[in-house]
Amino acid sequence: MSLELDPLLFGEIDPPQRLLMGPGPVNAHPRVLRAMSADLLGQFDPEMTGYMEQVMALYRPIFGTRNRWTMLVDGTARAGIEAALVSLVRPGDTVLVVNFGRFGLLLTEILQRIGARIETVEAPWGEVVPLEAISDAIARTAPRLVATIHGDTSTTMAQPLDGFGALCRAAGALSYVDATATIGGMELAADRWDVDVVTGGLQKCLGGPSGSAPITISEAAAEQIFARRHTEAGIRMAGLVDGQGPRIGSNYFDLAMIMDYWSEKRLNHHTEATSMLYAARECARVALAEGLATRYDRHARAGRAMTAGLRAMGLTVFGDDAHRMTNVTGAHIPEGIDGEAVRRTMREAFEIEIGTAFGPLQGKVWRLGAMGYNAMRHKVLITLGALEASLRMAGFALPLGEAVPAAMAAWTDRPVQDERA
Ligand SMILES: *Cc1c(COP(=O)(O)O)cnc(C)c1O
Repeated sequence: MSLELDPLLFGEIDPPQRLLMGPGPVNAHPRVLRAMSADLLGQFDPEMTGYMEQVMALYRPIFGTRNRWTMLVDGTARAGIEAALVSLVRPGDTVLVVNFGRFGLLLTEILQRIGARIETVEAPWGEVVPLEAISDAIARTAPRLVATIHGDTSTTMAQPLDGFGALCRAAGALSYVDATATIGGMELAADRWDVDVVTGGLQKCLGGPSGSAPITISEAAAEQIFARRHTEAGIRMAGLVDGQGPRIGSNYFDLAMIMDYWSEKRLNHHTEATSMLYAARECARVALAEGLATRYDRHARAGRAMTAGLRAMGLTVFGDDAHRMTNVTGAHIPEGIDGEAVRRTMREAFEIEIGTAFGPLQGKVWRLGAMGYNAMRHKVLITLGALEASLRMAGFALPLGEAVPAAMAAWTDRPVQDERA
């Protein structure tokens, strides 16, 4: 059998124009896609290292920090999570996981591979963990690191983090937060929260493609990471003479080596993913030009409008109202309705993707996102209109024409009629 393949068998990439209104990824901002088509540079070209410096500067306000070590880990958001955990935690270290959804379970899974002693403090899906419970758990377990999630898209809940870092620091523990789902959409305040390491991704509220993980690292965490730096072979490869410490379990995700590459030393580690760096840079430029406060407000309006629209069509919104993420909303699938069939109608008839759910919520809840470039009023309204029609087509009896005006009113916090004034 010949291994040759007719080059015309597969056409040029020409995806359908889907509106991605699920829990991520979402449609990228066109400026981000344009930036990605720019020409490539050598990794030590002064233009390239200049762009790397700019990315460090651009992501500090986005994380709400003055941390010097603010940069990118190449890979999806999970690469940032894994780099943080594998670089901060040694086998046998005690780590407290503050778990309120699927991504808390992911932290646990990665920590198991590292060989950490894992303790957890949990909330049921749809709730967050009270600060007092975290404080008690820290006192009980004396962890070296406390790890949590800011917004867990699996449950649509946002864990309050004011005071979290101080609790950890007072107990001599480092702190880690996965903010993938909230970065660029809800306020991140790494310095005010006093947390040590925060990581994110581009494909949610930053309106970029997946494949780059912004990270910020406090001085205290950086010191510990450098102190336990490379293996002997790693030291030789990097051309270093000192700093030999205990081995860490990953070369690619060794933050000490990644920091050396992003420092003025420019010690080669990986080859920085140039087109993704362009994307990350443009995501941040778009966000900062809009203004972070304006951007967070836009996400809050979108979430409010989505929630109001879902309720107006007779659906029940999932989870605790007080701690809901602004950018993704869960809706209970009505009794007797096939959730996957409705998602299929949304996709096939309206070119709109909404999300399914995981674990205990699978088959019970849809997740509707309005993030980044898609946290726009018209996209929320179009999604609600299409969902109403899809539910009607599935035989669900619902009040027609209520959802869109309710969402419009919630967007402005004013009655709809005032819109024209
Ligand atoms: C979406 C999401 C991730 C996903 O990571 P990827 O590796 O980019 O798929 C991680 N954490 C949270 C909280 C998320 O919402």
